[in-house]
Amino acid sequence: MKLCRFDADRLGLVDGERVFDVTSALSALPAAHYPLPRVDLLIAHLPELRGAIEATAKSAKPLALKDLKLLSPIANAGKVVAAPVNYKKHLEEARADAEIHHQKQVAEIQNVGLFLKATSAIVGPSEGIAIRHAERRTDHEIELAAIIGTKADRVTREHALDHIAGYCIGLDITVRGPEERSLRKSIDSYCVLGPCFVTADSVPDPSSLDLELKVNGEPRQRANTRDLIIGIADLIVFASSFYTLMPGDVLLTGTPEGVGPIKPGDIIDASISKVGSMQVKVRAG
Ligand code: MN
Repeated sequence: MKLCRFDADRLGLVDGERVFDVTSALSALPAAHYPLPRVDLLIAHLPELRGAIEATAKSAKPLALKDLKLLSPIANAGKVVAAPVNYKKHLEEARADAEIHHQKQVAEIQNVGLFLKATSAIVGPSEGIAIRHAERRTDHEIELAAIIGTKADRVTREHALDHIAGYCIGLDITVRGPEERSLRKSIDSYCVLGPCFVTADSVPDPSSLDLELKVNGEPRQRANTRDLIIGIADLIVFASSFYTLMPGDVLLTGTPEGVGPIKPGDIIDASISKVGSMQVKVRAG
């Protein structure tokens, strides 16, 4: 199943290039009251809602996916957990390029661990990327984003993948420089999620997905998730050994080699096999 969030917070069931408006199925979600739960309610209750979503789609008129304003498919992520330098060739590239490593030793992920991006940075593909600190180098990073579906606290490798609800494409946009990663990667709009949320049953093997990112039609990043240094299951084991992962939490699994600068006016095309493709415009912030 593929879901998108579009226009004014509508929920869509995606079938190829068509989208069925299934927003009314959300009425089955439990009412939320202050203090609001720190989970994404749709992701937390998706297993019970699937039947209603499919039934609603049957009587909905199809819309054209290309005409919709696509928002982040995850509306209320509690946290964005991200893996730094998790592809070997990107590690080599980062160590070789002073503008990327910024006079700091680039450590292997096993030693440096994970970092967090602010959830306020999340946008959907149609919202675009608004560049701040335009005088500094800002890079694109395409990553497979795994969305947590069930509470995961100190899970074992054997059960780790069971906690994934699904996947989307993540763009971990990054200002290069000496400050902490969490600061440089948390600017508003620097975490693009899209185009849709694809449930885990539609991605039977997340460890063999092709990723590709182009800027203005020029290929920049091309890789496969089989080249991850720490695979998705082990990332969940690692992350959940420190903090409890909750439904709707986003796990950015790391970017492969080929990162490079973007500037206002650029157009990014990003795709991941089985997950989808999206176009994202870059503008001045
Ligand atoms: Mn990254």
